[in-house]
Amino acid sequence: MEHPINILERYWKFTAFKPNQEAIINAVLEGEDTFALLPTGGGKSLCFQIPALAKKGICIVISPLIALMKDQVESLNNKGIKAMALTSGITYSQLDTLLDNCIYGNYKFLYLSPERLQQELVQERIRQMNVNLIAVDEAHCISQWGSDFRPAYKNIVLLRQLQPTVNVIALTASAKPDVVNDIVKELDFIQPKIFKHSFYRPNLGYMVFHENDKHYRLETILKKYKASSIVYVRNRKSTIEISSFLESKNISATFYHGGLANNDKDSNMDAWIHNQKQVMVATNAFGMGIDKPDVKTVIHLNLPESIESYFQEAGRVGRNGDKAFAVILKNNSDEILVKNQFLKVLPNVDLVKQVYRKLCNYFQISYGEGEYLTFDFDFNTFCKTYNFASILCYNALLLLDRNSIITLSKQFKNKI
Ligand code: ADP
Ligand code: MG
Repeated sequence: MEHPINILERYWKFTAFKPNQEAIINAVLEGEDTFALLPTGGGKSLCFQIPALAKKGICIVISPLIALMKDQVESLNNKGIKAMALTSGITYSQLDTLLDNCIYGNYKFLYLSPERLQQELVQERIRQMNVNLIAVDEAHCISQWGSDFRPAYKNIVLLRQLQPTVNVIALTASAKPDVVNDIVKELDFIQPKIFKHSFYRPNLGYMVFHENDKHYRLETILKKYKASSIVYVRNRKSTIEISSFLESKNISATFYHGGLANNDKDSNMDAWIHNQKQVMVATNAFGMGIDKPDVKTVIHLNLPESIESYFQEAGRVGRNGDKAFAVILKNNSDEILVKNQFLKVLPNVDLVKQVYRKLCNYFQISYGEGEYLTFDFDFNTFCKTYNFASILCYNALLLLDRNSIITLSKQFKNKI
């Protein structure tokens, strides 16, 4: 069997693995059920693609979005690797032929949606294939606790019946414990090898600006960097408003939200991916699996929904390793909201501990000795002094200035 590093060099021209990739690949090759928890941009695709290339047979990849499947199939095809996706809009007889190719045609990858897996013909043919690996990409879609729950993901476990001897790899960037537990349970993992990489992103700067005129600040930032960006807003209407505001200021922009027709979704996304538009203004419906290496800034015009979603959304910048920025624009009313939330949760010490642990997870704050945060203002010193209370509430952490947090922390200290 060819060594993974040779496959990496030959097809991808990369010279080294990213953290944890090699360990994951080896576990998969040893036939283990494997769970890869890597941040966005961590290189999850290679974790199933390389083992599949190292072995005879075909790898079945479950993926939630047509756009993701197409992207990956295209990039594999460009490397001369035979891969196909069962997209929508194919006739029964085309489907029949495609599936035949997976049995007899030396295909290495078959991408399909969980809904497609429910089709009887598909199941019947998968049973006949020489499957070497089952990969479940964006595996958090299986969990109701995640933000992208897809009921059909619960049927994936059926693949185990169709191919009882084949091992499964689940991949996600969502490390929420509830989600992780659901994935393990729903995919019938008995003793999975779990690989979890630190979510620390050294090239990301997290910034918070207090700005009562958010529009103006947004314009300034985007004009300063003149580079590919995402602007997250709270609702569908704002995606359109903000994108036309930007266009009126000569910043090319497009928009994306869950209510758009598929055609519009595709064409707006394409314009942004190919840099015909600098800015994508979107709701949180946008972004899953986006692999655009040169995104320079992600700007939140409204408060992010949770620390998980913030991490995922902010994590879409700087995937090429260049210095990149995640910016939150807040104003007075955001602060009032957050202060109220903060004071409301303070008496609940358990919740507060939970948030603290989450923060440690996501932003790689370590306990004890090397306590640090990667925010731009002077949280390092601050956290050393006030770690017990200062980082209790992520909203406060992200949105309030130092002094407010110190004040709030003191109030908290007085309460316990
Ligand atoms: P994820 O699915 O974890 O978000 P991807 O699989 O889409 O990440 O990979 C992100 C980017 O990193 C891709 O452009 C990919 O080509 C690149 N990449 C993956 N592995 C390596 C590696 N070992 N060396 C350099 N670049 C890599
Ligand atoms: Mg991915």
